[in-house]
Amino acid sequence: MDEFGLIARFFAPLAAAEPGALGLTDDAAVLDLPPGTRLVAATDALVAGIHFLADDPPGDIARKLMRVNLSDLAAMGATPRAVLLAAVLPRGTSEAWLAAFADGLSDDAQEFGAPLVGGDTVATDGPLTLALTALGLADGGVLTRAGARAGDDVYVSGTIGDAALGLRVLRGGLAGLDEDQRAVLVSRYRVPIPRLALGRALVGIAHACIDVSDGLIADLGHICACSGLAAQVMAAEVPLSPAARSAITADRNLLSAVLGGGDDYELAFTAPPSARAALQRAGQATGVALARIGVMMPGEGVTVGDAAAFGLVLEKRGFSHF
Ligand SMILES: [Mg+2]
Repeated sequence: MDEFGLIARFFAPLAAAEPGALGLTDDAAVLDLPPGTRLVAATDALVAGIHFLADDPPGDIARKLMRVNLSDLAAMGATPRAVLLAAVLPRGTSEAWLAAFADGLSDDAQEFGAPLVGGDTVATDGPLTLALTALGLADGGVLTRAGARAGDDVYVSGTIGDAALGLRVLRGGLAGLDEDQRAVLVSRYRVPIPRLALGRALVGIAHACIDVSDGLIADLGHICACSGLAAQVMAAEVPLSPAARSAITADRNLLSAVLGGGDDYELAFTAPPSARAALQRAGQATGVALARIGVMMPGEGVTVGDAAAFGLVLEKRGFSHF
């Protein structure tokens, strides 16, 4: 199948909901934007063997690709509008693989209102490489990493560390957990949940926000650097899933993997103490648990306040591919 046949068969159906995609037959897409809105753009590439495992289910790879990019929109408080895909496919990629990949992408395009409006497909002798560009809309303010103030509370959504532990399960670790717990952790690694509704709700409340992709400590470090402040995190306040708690109870050293591991795609943010009631309402309205885990203060960098209580050795400050 040539490139045009491949696009027509597998990817054009994902563009059907957006007239401006022109059926993926033209040189570019033309999108109407509501008056007064701003375009928010983000792009992220995933490489087999680095960001996902080459034998992960293709539908899950597609959904992770979509969701890590939508998570960047969530971190800015933006609403998805459209996505563009650059797929660099190993020669000989099967039609069955492509069909399952396109199905996963289609499911998420519908779920999150993010139709495919363009992209490119090329063959390579290298590893499967997938880049997605997410376009979003903001109709008021946006969240950035730079607005934190000394005295702000530090929060994180959901639970932290499940994805890092899920990767360990896929690599044969955490054999002591039961099947259900292992499945929960793997699912969190393979198919993260972009916190889009929460991100929108935080606009006007949070001072600074980031999505947790590199690891909680590393990503809070980005807020610190951009805001010119330090953060103190209380390890005991970091929210853990039952599966992660079981894993850490069995092996306390795993807490450093939880705080330093990446791929959770939760939102970490700061807000003044006066916003606590508003945040409680935002969490309830969006169905996302919010945990207050620390405080912003003058200085630089992230310290983990009660690490010693966990016998914690922070062996790495975050997850880096370089
Ligand atoms: Mg991000």
